[in-house]
Order: sequence, then structure tokens, then C-alpha cells
Amino acid sequence: MIYLDYSATTPVSKEVLESLVKVTKEYVGNPNSLHSLGQKSNELLNSATKQISEILNINTNEIIYTSGATEANNLAIIGYAFKHSNRGKNIVVSKLEHPSIYGICDYLATQGFTITYVDNNEDGLIDFEDLKNKVTDETILVSIVAVNSEVGVRQPLKTLRQIIKKQNEFAILHSDMTQAIGKVNVNLHDVDLASFSGHKIYGPKGIGMLYKNEKIGLEPIIHGDETLRSGTPSLPLIVAFSKALRLAVTNVSKNESVVKLLNDKLTATIAKYPNIKINKTNYSIPHIFNISLMTIKPETLIHSLEKRDIYVGSNTACAKGKRSSTLMAIYNDENRADTSIRICLSHLTSFDDLNKFVYSFDIVYNKLLELR
Ligand code: PMP
Repeated sequence: MIYLDYSATTPVSKEVLESLVKVTKEYVGNPNSLHSLGQKSNELLNSATKQISEILNINTNEIIYTSGATEANNLAIIGYAFKHSNRGKNIVVSKLEHPSIYGICDYLATQGFTITYVDNNEDGLIDFEDLKNKVTDETILVSIVAVNSEVGVRQPLKTLRQIIKKQNEFAILHSDMTQAIGKVNVNLHDVDLASFSGHKIYGPKGIGMLYKNEKIGLEPIIHGDETLRSGTPSLPLIVAFSKALRLAVTNVSKNESVVKLLNDKLTATIAKYPNIKINKTNYSIPHIFNISLMTIKPETLIHSLEKRDIYVGSNTACAKGKRSSTLMAIYNDENRADTSIRICLSHLTSFDDLNKFVYSFDIVYNKLLELR
């Protein structure tokens, strides 16, 4: 099998899976129970949280565990909007967000909030002037994805936050860092709220995290106890997540240079196909390689590759079948936005894998061209 859909999800690393199984077997107590089994679990929970706080250079009380990035995005944006609606009712978002952010915005629009979409330039970078104009006295929160999930555009969050604060000192910046963490270095002090997901960093599915600056108040979206996220903490998933995070963050630079070489090779190869457009900007990270087939339906190619045990992604796993809003925002070309596929590269991808992909791609693509 050649797996090239790492931005949709990643396989759990061996070490992480081992700790998931070990904690599941050996820590039966509920961390909230008073007895010694509960205390033992609570101690492990605290040490995992401490480890995460050290890795991300934040405080332990700034970590809220969630089921994944979708829930973290919901808690961040809805939780902030409901808590601070007395200050203003405007939310500003980019046009390069994950579909979950737009779902949240659509919901908030039904609750009396206004949503403003900020423009980007041809490189996918947020247009600073437009951001300046769109952040008003009514704006309470701006949400900008750290690394876009389709074209991999990385945003200069620190600068963006400075622009936002200059316009309105009360407006805060949330960033969906799901595709950034483990691929590039991130600094949580550049933002006020940030979302993460375990299954994008070789961790288990069903665990994520929201970073919340300790000065920021949120309204819970899941009610039950007095915390911001009610429910028994999933100790095995949390411990496994902390391990995945440590591995992901430790090897960023080493892995990035491997992936860059793979990307260079793929770019040079695909550039030889005259009808295919490479969707890569000056700010795309090398892990996500996106192309538009233009004359062939992406699903036909994806399924043909699948028959050869090769797995690539459509625009994003969460927006299957829909026109890519990211590609529209960058290239404003409907055909380009309708025919994209995403080939994700990882430090686990070998040059041999890539050669096999390139070989099969050529056969499959040319056959589909003939069949048109
Ligand atoms: N944000 C981004 C940028 C993503 O790529 C994804 C996963 N496709 C999500 C959020 C959703 O993450 P989860 O599956 O953990 O809810």
C-alpha cells in the first residue's frame, strides 16, 4: 500500500499505540474518583497535561481536551461569541478555512452574529489591508487557519494578530492549527485560541485540544459539570495524544527537510503534464501537494489509483464532492476548483513509494485521457 492522504488522517505510531493500550489496561480509575485508583489516574492525567504544556510553552490551565479539532473550533468560536456578545457581534474569518469553521459561522449567523470574510492575495496570504478594513469595533473574534488543509498555505499569525489588535484591542485571534502542528513550528503566543487534533499527528482518533489563553473566558458548549468541557477525561487518549505531540514537535525540522525533497521531485515530475495545474503558492508547506487535473474528474483518478493500492485525497476529506472554496479563493477558476486532488507527503513516504506513485499515476492518467 502507498498511502498519500496524511492530511485527512495519519496512522497511529507504534509508540503511541502502545501507550494507549497500556493506559487502557492499567489505569481503570476515573481521574475524578476520590479513591486511590482515581488518584493514580489523576496523577497520570496531570503529568500528561504538564508535558503538553511544556511542549507548547503554555500553562496547564490553558489546555482543554476535546474530541478533535472540530469540537475545539466549536468551543473556541461559539464559546467566545456567546460569552462576549455584549461587546460586539461580528466574527471575521478567512476564505481558506476548514469546512467546520464555515459550519460554525453559518450557525452563528442564525444566532444574530454577522460573519465577514477577509480576502487573500494570489499566494493565499491574508490581505493585510483588507483585514484592517474588516476588523471593526463590532468585531470580537478573528479566525485564521495556521496552515490551510488543501494548498498548505501558511499564514503569518503574529503579524495578523498585530493588525487585528491595532484595529480593535478587544478582538482576539483564534487559529485552527490542525495542519500546522508537527509539520512546521508554531508559537501559541502568536494567538489567543488554537485548535489541534490527535489523528493528524500520528496519534489516535477521537482526541484533540483547545489552547485557551488563561485570560480569555468562554461559554461551555457541552454542559454537565462546572468545567469548560464536561465528561470523564479519556485518560488513554490524552496520554497517547501527549506522546504523539512530543514526537511530532521534536522532529519538525528533520521531517520537513525530507518532505521538501519529496515535494521537489513530485513538482518536477507533475510539471511535465501540460494540462495539469499545480496548486502551490510561495507560502505552501511541502507536505501538501495539490494539483488540478482540469480535463479529468478527480474521483475517477482517485479510484483508479486505489485499484493499484495507492491512496490520495480529494480536496479535503471533510468537503467531499464539493467545489474547493480554497482554490476558488486563490485562483478564482471553477474548473480548477472542481478537479483537484491532494497528494500528502510525510516523513514516512519513501522515495521508492514516490517513484511507484509517479509510475502508476502516469499509466492511470494517460489511460483516462484516452477514454475521455
Ligand atoms: N481543521 C483542519 C484544518 C483540518 O484539516 C481538519 C481535519 N480534516 C479539522 C479541522 C477537523 O479535525 P477533526 O477530524 O479532529 O475534527
